[in-house]
Amino acid sequence: MHTNEINDDKSLNFLEEIIEKDIQEGKHNGRVLTRFPPEPNGYLHLGHSSSICLNFGLAKKFGGKTNLRFDDTNPVTEETEYVESIKADIKWLGFDWANELYASDYFEQLYTFATDLIKKGLAYVDDSSSEQIAAQKGDLHTPGINSPFRDRSVEENLELFAKMRAGEFADGERVLRAKIDMAHPNMIMRDPLIYRIKHAHHHRTGDAWCIYPMYDFAHGQSDSIENITHSICTLEFIPHRAMYDWCIEKLEIFPSKQYEFARVNINYTVMSKRKLLQLVNEKHVDGWDDPRMPTISGVRRRGYTAEAIREFCDRVGVSKRDKLIDIGLLEFCVREHLNKISLRRMAVLDPIKLIITNYPEGNSELLPTENNTEDENAGTRNLSFSNTLYIEQDDFMEEPTKKFFRLGVGLSVRLKSAYIVTCTGFTKDDNGNITEVHCTYAPNSKSGSDTSGIKAKGVIHWVDANNCKTAEVRIYDRLFKVENPNAEDGDFKDYINENSLQIVKEAKIENELAKAIASDKFQFLRLGYFCLDKNSTYENLIFNKTVGLKDSWAKEVVKG
Ligand code: ATP
Ligand code: MG
Repeated sequence: MHTNEINDDKSLNFLEEIIEKDIQEGKHNGRVLTRFPPEPNGYLHLGHSSSICLNFGLAKKFGGKTNLRFDDTNPVTEETEYVESIKADIKWLGFDWANELYASDYFEQLYTFATDLIKKGLAYVDDSSSEQIAAQKGDLHTPGINSPFRDRSVEENLELFAKMRAGEFADGERVLRAKIDMAHPNMIMRDPLIYRIKHAHHHRTGDAWCIYPMYDFAHGQSDSIENITHSICTLEFIPHRAMYDWCIEKLEIFPSKQYEFARVNINYTVMSKRKLLQLVNEKHVDGWDDPRMPTISGVRRRGYTAEAIREFCDRVGVSKRDKLIDIGLLEFCVREHLNKISLRRMAVLDPIKLIITNYPEGNSELLPTENNTEDENAGTRNLSFSNTLYIEQDDFMEEPTKKFFRLGVGLSVRLKSAYIVTCTGFTKDDNGNITEVHCTYAPNSKSGSDTSGIKAKGVIHWVDANNCKTAEVRIYDRLFKVENPNAEDGDFKDYINENSLQIVKEAKIENELAKAIASDKFQFLRLGYFCLDKNSTYENLIFNKTVGLKDSWAKEVVKG
């Protein structure tokens, strides 16, 4: 099941309604402070962009601010490289945070909160092993049983917790648990773990700590420390909300509130950092920013624009139901934006020579041509034209079919921005491959001043063979062969599309493209949208195909 559901409805979404009501009721004096809380254990993906647009967007809409808080309470998986990439990606998406914060900066405060709970008789050190704790937990139909360590005195708990911090125990030897209710209908409330021992180096606090707070003890309190008014997370945290509220209530700290919305998933890809990391580590892709990856850095390298991603997130909207969004919607948004801003250029991916037999050998001319007909400020460039051009193999047919309006002996076609040519013949090599196509041109058929009276039904693109560059062009397809690799039997990697990258080694491109810079966006006429790859050099030009001109996927489906 997937949805192409477009959120054209300009009425308030449920989160906007909540915030508007809070403001009307004067809650927090009308102040709105949201946060985006990534765990720095991977690069951001398109799912995160939806959370980013939501958190920053809501704050902006209601005159508030947004904190960027790294949720770095798990020392093992976190790295500074990820912190840097996350900041770069958020900035690129067009958002600015009010404060850059780290949950690890609150370790001392969180430790104090934990001792506060102990003092209130609301937390205890448990010597049970993780297996024993799991066995005590019960299940949905069976209440759990109390740990034999549940009734330790406050003094003993304080002393043991201090020893945990001091490094006197090995990993797993002791935990700190909240003392709530082992028969609670919400399993999370059955004396959840709030601190564990982990002798591990942390990317910011180094070796200062060997105990680390669990998510349920860190997240809500971090929100509260920052005076976050609306803490927005995804649906899987609904059962955690009770613990979020319990900690805030028992600690009597700022009453942040948690609200949940549905994760955004996109078909033909996976969006979990853990899975994306596997693709990177096992070299199924060329790093986190491989243009086939659904990461922000991947789609950026592919040529997607921040505007297009924001538009996509806006159209997807917020929902309380998990949904799988059609990648076609994202590509639609990308195409819409690129159509407005991209510079039109000509490139031939599968070249064959076209010889104009009546154009004087050695002559050439420059044809002024608009850079972007959609944008009058985009200016013009000079296209070089001579007696030998490259055209696509596909644009010539030895025995043209009835509806073929391009080149075949006797057929006329307009060369985009240049002249009308009429095909007169072709040559073949010993293997029967066509090597050259021959034609004549009508000198009075120049684009813009055509007086030839010749009717040409088709228009084709071309490149001057006497004055062009060669480039590598990389063309991408979906990374997975199935709509939802997560829902299939076996490993999600069994469904990788082995043909997701096609490399054209020797495309012929108009000279102007050698001047391309990283941020340029191009439409190669009739071929699609392209951009320079980060590894491109002047000597070794490399272009990435961003997206086609039309939805080729939808067409495939129709063709069956
Ligand atoms: P992943 O499973 O990919 O690691 P995560 O939720 O563990 O995702 P975090 O770094 O913890 O990743 O997420 C930061 C914020 O982004 C959280 O508030 C999270 O709810 C939100 N988020 C993550 N994935 C999505 C998604 N697919 N759609 C919407 N929001 C998301
Ligand atoms: Mg996470």
